[in-house]
Amino acid sequence: MKVPSAQQRQLLDVADLDAELAKMRHELRNLPEDAELTKQAQKLEEIRDDRSRAQVAVDNLQNEFERVDKELTGTAEHLKRDRDQIESGAVGHKALAEFQHEVSGLERRNEALEAELMEVMEQQEATAAELERTEAALLAATEQELAMVADRDAALVAVEEKVTDAQTKRAALIEGIDAAMVAIYEKLREQGRVGAGLLRQRRCGACRMELDPRSLARIAAADEDEVLRCEECTAIMVRTAQSGLPTPAADE
Ligand SMILES: [Zn+2]
Repeated sequence: MKVPSAQQRQLLDVADLDAELAKMRHELRNLPEDAELTKQAQKLEEIRDDRSRAQVAVDNLQNEFERVDKELTGTAEHLKRDRDQIESGAVGHKALAEFQHEVSGLERRNEALEAELMEVMEQQEATAAELERTEAALLAATEQELAMVADRDAALVAVEEKVTDAQTKRAALIEGIDAAMVAIYEKLREQGRVGAGLLRQRRCGACRMELDPRSLARIAAADEDEVLRCEECTAIMVRTAQSGLPTPAADE
């Protein structure tokens, strides 16, 4: 196959663009902003867990408060009934003594319940503050996440613009290159290979294999428009003045 050497060199530019494009796609998949967002998501999950725990503590204490408060109301009513009986003067000595005994018991219970209620209310203050703290933290972290998403999207757009740019350049280059040679190049790339490389300092630019003197002599003798393939990696080997080829005259 013969293709003007200028077009062969143009294919090398395409290969350079393809290497750049591969780097950009790797960049897109590994944006540091995405890594930061993953960390932020973990942080948000921890805060949500803290908030759930705080909410459970608040609910438990509310139940506790209602239980103690209800018992206090019952005790107060019981006390009132007993005191009314005592003050009515309608009960006998023995019953009066029993009422008085019961009243002092209820008064002690009342005192204990009031102390318990105070303690519950103190704990309620602390848990409410913790719930408020976790809710504020959640709000802040959510806002932070939104800002981070915006940063990530901006980074994504910047790289995507570079990709579009390179693709446009690539399409323009390809247009001027022999279609059959491009087909070989694309096929190699589909197979996951480097499609073309510059022959430099006696090495294939695609696989870095050093060519032996016999191959070099054969390449040097070939027409400059002849499309050459690397024997090692089958890439299209493009020659330039810097390829380090022996001049055919030197063999004579
Ligand atoms: Zn090679």
